[in-house]
Amino acid sequence: MEANGREQRGLEIAAKSKLERSGDRWFVPSQSNGGTNHGGKYIVKPDVSNPHCTCPDYETRQIKCKHIWAVEFTVQREYRTDGQNETFTETVKIRKTYKQEWTSYNAAQVNEKDQFQSLLRELCKGIGEPSQIVGRKRLPFEEMIFATTFKVYSTVSQRRFMSDLRDAHAKGYISKVPHFNSISNYLESEVLTPYLEMLIEESSLPLTAIESDFAVDSSGFSTCRFVQWVDAKYTNKSLMTKREWVKVHLMCGVKTNVVTAVKITDRFAGDSPIFKQLVDTTAQNFVMQEVSADKAYLSAANLQTVVDYAAMPYIPFKSNSKPTWGLGTQQTQDQNARWRRKTNLWRQMYHFFSFNQSRFFQQYHKRSNVESTFSMIKAKFGDSLRSKTKTAQINEALCKVLAHNICCLIQSMYELDLKPEFWAEPIN
Ligand SMILES: [Zn+2]
Repeated sequence: MEANGREQRGLEIAAKSKLERSGDRWFVPSQSNGGTNHGGKYIVKPDVSNPHCTCPDYETRQIKCKHIWAVEFTVQREYRTDGQNETFTETVKIRKTYKQEWTSYNAAQVNEKDQFQSLLRELCKGIGEPSQIVGRKRLPFEEMIFATTFKVYSTVSQRRFMSDLRDAHAKGYISKVPHFNSISNYLESEVLTPYLEMLIEESSLPLTAIESDFAVDSSGFSTCRFVQWVDAKYTNKSLMTKREWVKVHLMCGVKTNVVTAVKITDRFAGDSPIFKQLVDTTAQNFVMQEVSADKAYLSAANLQTVVDYAAMPYIPFKSNSKPTWGLGTQQTQDQNARWRRKTNLWRQMYHFFSFNQSRFFQQYHKRSNVESTFSMIKAKFGDSLRSKTKTAQINEALCKVLAHNICCLIQSMYELDLKPEFWAEPIN
């Protein structure tokens, strides 16, 4: 599974970006920050017997990383399309088995827009009419959600989106074509928010049999197209205060990148307290085996949350972490027992982390998939928000996540022969 994950990421990198090359060196953009840092590229030498990459994954584990895979896929693709890279067939192993994956990947891409509408329609059908909506409206609620999510998926301006909407109407996905201003009005509705969260959860359910390992992280979306979260967070903190941000916290499955739980907060909200909510939501639908998160999430409570679901937490300890956790004065017997349970767990995990580092990092590496998930969402649907008000920004960000999940399902339909069905138990 582990090697598979890197391969899959490599395939995505190869599909998304055009890799530059100089002699036998290839330059692969780093994915960890939306692929947008300046000159953030790793150097890959795709030698068959001894491939090499400058990324931390390769440096620490010396196994084929996603960047090496990406170069191999790129070489295969070029070889297949122009037949002129014969010198490379000598140095890079061509693996026939991937022809299949390319075919399904391409098929998924070609049919995506049609499949997207059809799956989105199926999803929206289950939601019914909320009682909170009053007054006259042109579209039924489920069609409002269809139209807004399809709009965010399309990434074009409202006016240009109208031809997509007419197309959706012609295919029977919506009963009327709304006025082009309506979509942004729909996004302003607070009623939408819990429904979008519910649809994101629902859209992950067809993958319950496939996902057992999960990863958690957060990332910001800004209202300015020219300001990137990574720059604001790490290099120029004043950008944090000048612009509007929403922060998206999510948990995803590491095999398909499907988002299983999401929470949106303002830009300054801490990561660690959101962790439990994401784990709890995911645990309602999935049998969890592993949960990985970076050290910002390290706390005895978060470790306990994962263990309570009989899953294994992979959260690295900090350099100043101590093998024992906290020393409180416990008043009651009950508090005492809880404290002992937590401190035992902390000590166990601390020792596992300290003395089995290679095993720890082998599993912890799956965390990078949540970064890929954010990269995929931002690359495909943009990392900025068009909406002007807070509520609309939250809804717009949720629409991006929902659109991402539907794309994950489409990919799985082609790659894993999945046939998604929603709303197994009818809701009222
Ligand atoms: Zn690498």
